[in-house]
Amino acid sequence: MSQSNIGRRSFLKLAALGAGATTAFGSNDTLRFATEAELKDPFPGSVMKRTICSICSAGCGILAEVDESSNTWIRQDWAADAPMNQGSHCCKGIDQIDLTKSKMRLKYPLKKVNGKWERISWETAVEEIGNKMLEVRAEDGPDSVEFLGSAKFSNQQAYYFRKFAAFWGTNNIDHVARI
Ligand code: SF4
Repeated sequence: MSQSNIGRRSFLKLAALGAGATTAFGSNDTLRFATEAELKDPFPGSVMKRTICSICSAGCGILAEVDESSNTWIRQDWAADAPMNQGSHCCKGIDQIDLTKSKMRLKYPLKKVNGKWERISWETAVEEIGNKMLEVRAEDGPDSVEFLGSAKFSNQQAYYFRKFAAFWGTNNIDHVARI
């Protein structure tokens, strides 16, 4: 889009945006029209990689656009020819890129101490959760706990999870997809 062929309404909108940005950033230099070349190819040098959505075991195909110079996943599209999804994604898979880019992504265990989240080690997390589970079982029995499996589980992981619940002593086990 060049500056000359935008409509009056669009121009007024852009002017308003420009004024807002001037207030926010203190200079109109922060806003400019994208060049024709940038519109055609916003991420020069990026490459498309085929990958698979890891949210559930359906394994729908994803096209991931990657900037190799910064090793960054930039955009995602569905793989139209993937046999599982045949050109579509569910609402979770369509935003798979956020699993790697989101600032909300949980990367390590956190524990709430006096109302504030504190980082703890994996060893501490496993130890504390395990001890708490044993405490609950001693007080209220094995059926006081429910095991809820993940849609990410492979067959083998589902098998181990089922075994874990059985050894724990309960049949309270289900799968997140049923919910
Ligand atoms: S979460 Fe959705 S997009 Fe991802 S594999 Fe499962 S069905 Fe496909």
